[in-house]
Amino acid sequence: MAHYFRCGKLFTARSDEALRNQTVVATDGVITYVGPTAAAPRPAASDSVVDHSRHFVMPGLIDGHTHIGAGNANTEEDVDLYAPLEFRALRMMINLQRMFAAGYTGVIDGATTGRVGIACRNAINAGLFAGPRTICTGPFITTRLGYADFYPTWFNNPVAVRTRVTSLDQGFEAIRVQVKDGVDFIKLGMDGKVRNLDGGIAACFNAEETKHLVAESNRLGKWVKVHAKGTEAVLHSARAGARVICHAAHLTDEAIDAVLEADAILCPELTIIHNFTTFTQPTDSYNDVTHIGQAEWEATVASMRKARAAGCRILAGSDSGFACCPAGEWHALEIKLLVEHVGLTPAEGLRAGTAINGELFGGTAKIGVIEKGYLADLVAFDGDPLADINVLLDKKKIVGLYMGGERVTTKAPPINMRTETDFSYRMWGRVYDQKRVASMTTRAF
Ligand SMILES: [Zn+2]
Repeated sequence: MAHYFRCGKLFTARSDEALRNQTVVATDGVITYVGPTAAAPRPAASDSVVDHSRHFVMPGLIDGHTHIGAGNANTEEDVDLYAPLEFRALRMMINLQRMFAAGYTGVIDGATTGRVGIACRNAINAGLFAGPRTICTGPFITTRLGYADFYPTWFNNPVAVRTRVTSLDQGFEAIRVQVKDGVDFIKLGMDGKVRNLDGGIAACFNAEETKHLVAESNRLGKWVKVHAKGTEAVLHSARAGARVICHAAHLTDEAIDAVLEADAILCPELTIIHNFTTFTQPTDSYNDVTHIGQAEWEATVASMRKARAAGCRILAGSDSGFACCPAGEWHALEIKLLVEHVGLTPAEGLRAGTAINGELFGGTAKIGVIEKGYLADLVAFDGDPLADINVLLDKKKIVGLYMGGERVTTKAPPINMRTETDFSYRMWGRVYDQKRVASMTTRAF
């Protein structure tokens, strides 16, 4: 049985325009026809015809970078310590399903603890659970002073979101273990925690080490994605051949040249910085290690504008999965921010959240474009995001979501931090010394 989708407007992600009065036909999950309704084959009596003739249809959205396995965490300790890995996997599955409500049928997860991402991906692929098409990394591979090496030297946590290696051999071993366990990407935590003598963020691996780690990943058939805010980390990563460079907040001309030369794709993750600087409260803690703040926002936006003008490709990845950008809520905000602040056209924005991310699925799934031979993953909006990008963020405007031509009906429960994530032993948010208490109450104590 084939599914016929009548589309009032159709954005295929192959051109800038939405075409009017188009039909998409899906047979056994795969698109077999895209073109004018007038020229489309006629449905048989057993086929279904879905009427989106008053709607805007586009490829199902794909978030190019998340940490859905982090469970909408408040603290790094919530990510790494309290919940058992088995619980983290079950929770990640629900958070993946929460993405459906935002119109997402694909996700690239960029670092989870243990094999949590792999387990969810496999369970979805096996048909045990409904969920967006998922590809994932394992934990960050990093070293002393590196990004995600959050804890003191005297504390080793084997179920953290990072694997800390202290030699090239250990790096190779970590890569080989992850490849054996089934990751889709290798993720390197490239930024260091310290500044170099020029004042920039020092990379944690040197250029030679980075080259060997990327080469070994590529030799084993895996692309590398890096966390690299600092210029040095971007330079090392691009020159080593990393496929995706996350953040890239301080791009110099030299770094942009290296990114272009490597044909690497940039993933600025504006959403988490935006939400951190815009939504959260002064009482929320500020973590200097993550370098999030207004200066980071301005630097990242300026970097991306420069990179775009130079011809670098940019993908939309929201970094969702933390309390300030929880699963299922702000994924499409990344597209809006790329359009409104970096200057992408709305069509480029939609492609950043569909076709470009789809490319990174490699041979695992043909998604992100509405074209013959691609999987029929579609989202229909009651509104035109090319005319008003805010349509993407309005869940009420999503009038149809399909994976492989089948309607997605899975609904996940609302987020409940207390029962899902917030297991830390933190007890008080401030110190109640006599001065503070006196300012709070006139009662005698
Ligand atoms: Zn990330």
